Parts: sequence; C-alpha cells; structure tokens
Amino acid sequence: MKFTDLNIAEPILKALREKGYVEPTPVQEKAIPPILKGRDVLACAQTGTGKTAAFALPIVQRVLQVESTVDQRTPSPRALIVTPTRELAIQIDENVASYGKYTNLKHTVIFGGVKQGKQVDRLRRGVDILTATPGRLLDLIDQGLLKISDIEFFVLDEADRMLDMGFVNDVKKIIRLIPKERQSLFFSATMPNNIVKLAKEILTNEVRVEVAPPSTTAETIEQYLYYTNKPLKRSLLKHIIEDWSMDQVLVFSRTKHGADRIARDLKKADIKAAPIHGDKPQNFRQKVLKQFKEGTLQVLVATDIAARGIDIDKLKYVINFDIPNVAETYVHRIGRSGRAGEEGTAISICEPEENAYIRDIEKLIGLKIEVKSDHPFEQTDTPMTAAEKKEFEKEKQRKKQEFFANRKKKRQEGGGQRGNRNGGGGRNNNSKRSKDRSPADKKRREENLRAADGGGAQKPKSQDKNKAENNSEGGGQKRKNNKKRRNNNSRKRESIPTQRKSKNDSRTELLPKSLKDKYMFPLE
Ligand code: AMP
Repeated sequence: MKFTDLNIAEPILKALREKGYVEPTPVQEKAIPPILKGRDVLACAQTGTGKTAAFALPIVQRVLQVESTVDQRTPSPRALIVTPTRELAIQIDENVASYGKYTNLKHTVIFGGVKQGKQVDRLRRGVDILTATPGRLLDLIDQGLLKISDIEFFVLDEADRMLDMGFVNDVKKIIRLIPKERQSLFFSATMPNNIVKLAKEILTNEVRVEVAPPSTTAETIEQYLYYTNKPLKRSLLKHIIEDWSMDQVLVFSRTKHGADRIARDLKKADIKAAPIHGDKPQNFRQKVLKQFKEGTLQVLVATDIAARGIDIDKLKYVINFDIPNVAETYVHRIGRSGRAGEEGTAISICEPEENAYIRDIEKLIGLKIEVKSDHPFEQTDTPMTAAEKKEFEKEKQRKKQEFFANRKKKRQEGGGQRGNRNGGGGRNNNSKRSKDRSPADKKRREENLRAADGGGAQKPKSQDKNKAENNSEGGGQKRKNNKKRRNNNSRKRESIPTQRKSKNDSRTELLPKSLKDKYMFPLE
C-alpha cells in the first residue's frame, strides 16, 4: 500500500514525498480512509506508530475539501485538535504545517505557560486548524478571545493521558462547547474502561482502528540489559555512550533531580547533555529539544512525562538509566526509538533493587531481554532483604533530616538576608510547619514529593489549568496521595503563602523559592 492509493490530494502527496513518506504505517492505512469519508474514528495506537499523521493528514484534507460553515466574526477554527501537553501540541502543529505546506491552510497552536498575546494575535488573523492544550483553550474561550462553537472536526489525542492528568472535566467542558454535528476522532494508547466511556460520549457510529496491543514493543527495537551496582550506574552510562559511539541518545530518569544530576555528570565528562522535565522553563525545554533534534546536543536526559511529547525522527538510542517499576512505562520509553519502522536500540541499566522489575517487563513484552555482560561495571551486589531495606529506609530518613538540619543551620548562620528577600515571614512559618509535622505526615510528604518528581502531577484545578499543563508530570494515584496529604495538612496550610493554597500544587513551580529549596532535595 502506498500513500498514492489512499485518495490523498496532490498538494498533500507532494508534501509527503518531500518528507520521504511513501508507505502509510498500519494505523495510517486503517484510519485515513474512513476519516476521509467523514466517519468518526476510535484509534488505539501505540506510541511511534505514526498516529499523529493518521489524524493530522486527513484532517488537513477534510478542512480543504469540505466547504466552510464557520462564522468569521469571532476567531473560530474549523478543526480543533486537543492534546494534553504543550510538547505534543507543538509537534502536532508542526505536522499540520508540513502536510499543509502546499495549501493555503491556516493553522496555529495554543498552550499554557507562555504569555497569550502572540497566540491571540494569530487566532485573530484567522485559523483553520487549531491545536490546543485544554487549559489555555478554555482560558481563551472564557476571555471571549476564541470560540469553538463552529468546530466541524474534533480530535482528542492521547485521551488516556488526558484523563491521567486530571483533564476529564476540561475535556467534557470542551465537548459541551463544540457543536453536536461534527466529525470526531479519538486517539488513545490504551483503552481502559474510563476511556471507552469517554469515547462513547464523543463518537457517533465510529470505525475502530487498532494496530498493535499497547503492551508489545516495536519489532525494530533491539533491547539490551546491563546489570550493575547502584553506585556504578553513572560510570556505566558514560561507558555505554562511548562504547556504542552514541551521537544522539535519550536517557530516561525516574526523577527530575536524577535527570539534572545525570546531565551534570555527563557534562563534567565533556559529553554534551541537558535535562528536560516539568521543572524546567518552557523556553529552556524548547531550546534543548531543538538542539537535540538538530544533533548539536548529544544526550537529552528526560523524565517519563517530559519524554512522552518528544518525537525525534530516527532516534536510534534510548537508555533507561533506571528501570521503571511499571512495566508499561518501559514500553512507552523504548517506543521513543525505532519510530515508524526505523531501527532503534534500547539499553537498560539495572541495579540490584530493580532486578525484579525486569522480570515484570519481560513478562509484559513476552521476550527475554539480551544481557550484556562484557563491561567493567558488573553487578556484584545482591538485592536487599526486607530487613535490610527497612534499615536502608531508616538511614535514608536520618540522612535527609541531617541534610535539612545542616542547611537550616547554614542559612541561619548566613543571616536573615535571604529570608528578607523571600519575605522572611513565610520562611519562618514554613520552618515551623516542618517542625510541627508528624512523622506520618512527613513520610507521606516525602512519598508524594518522590511521586511528583518521578511523574506525579496534581489534579489541575480548572482556574489553574495552564500551570497544570506546564507541569505535566501526570499520575492518578499520586494525585490521590497528595489529596490525602492536603486534607491532613489543611490546618497547617493556613500559614502557607498564597500560591501554595492552589490545589494545583505542582510542587516546584508553585512553591515559593524558599519552600522549593527546602523540599526539593536530592532523593537518590
Ligand atoms: P507518532 O505520530 O508520534 O507515532 O510518530 C511516528 C514517527 O514516525 C514520527 O517521527 C513521524 O515523522 C514518522 N512517520 C509517521 N508516518 C510515517 C510514514 N508513513 N513513513 C515514515 N515515517 C513516518
């Protein structure tokens, strides 16, 4: 099957030829024909299968071919693509731009975390296809700067992530605002019951497309496993990068601090590396992503959620610096390489405590990962026994307390200058808060911090949606934990500076710097 067999219009075919796309991927082959016929589509497609083009390409063609009914007085796009993160939104818009390159189609993208002025200007100039994250979209609608009541084509991308990140009410609100008469496309990597339910609310008489079960790994990805001891991981990482002569590699870290530390360490070894995660400002994220894509940045160290939006053509190498304890995450991670039929290599670095996770992963993918033992950092330690683990946790707590106590002492010795700059009262309150907290509260807080750092987001509150998008390090269970913690701490919260009162407690961006310093300690 070729793209030329899919009834695609010549200007789009020309753009595809330029991109070097000749054959549609399975999801494209199955989804494009019904979409071009005006049908609703429900697609379950694993990451890296070419799903973006599966909806972006036919949407471009539909917008060009179907006569517009849009009222031009208020900026109102004809097609709306909603996606959970700004990285994804930008990438989708880039896709739309490239497929529509030889047409006069107008498109733009809106997302939170940046000033709205330029986005609003572009909307005012008229847009056919709008890609948006839910928060900014609803904000601009609330301000009367955009309306979506004339939408003819609606796409919900990464629906499962959307719900994971707590956007369900926003999605429902958006659906209420768009006309009932429309063509809808619904894309999700997984199809749990809540997703199926949501799909039913959106789609009418849909065509179902499923390409590969989400738990399979792309056949084109070679997978290898390096067993080592925890303290040797970073040396092994450097060894692997050099040994494989990797010129472009995406390294996954479970935590944001871990990502920072790995990148720092690589830089010390003269390897060009940068971290990307929810705590980094948008401009920085865009900059390093661009450098990585262009090949001027050798290593990008990402947390899972930050990486979800990263789409790099022909990314050859992915390294799991740590092994995810959720096997599906492994599949998502390694899916970043070997995109759409390209070859890729995924390497995992495993410390003793993670040995058990490998067994889960191998069960899920139905494959034994090849072990590489020809390296100088082999695993000699054994996993801790339950008693040792308990002792280890105790020691970790002790070290943390010691760390905080030392820092507090140092700051006090350093004088009140810093406290004044940060509005000293808040700092004092916070210190008190910390002291007042029960051990159980402290433990919960630490768990939540770890969760937020490794992929936990708080449930976004509607008025603070943009911030939620900015910090899109999602995770349902973690939100529940945080809610529990918030309830437990509600009395103490009275003394917290105003930003902290937001339920959208995305920990680092919303915390005042004083608190951020206080709580964002290295967790490794
Ligand atoms: P995604 O849409 O995230 O699954 O992206 C898949 C990757 O495959 C992207 O980097 C696309 O540029 C690329 N891609 C999509 N469709 C094709 C195709 N038909 N032929 C070659 N590459 C493709």
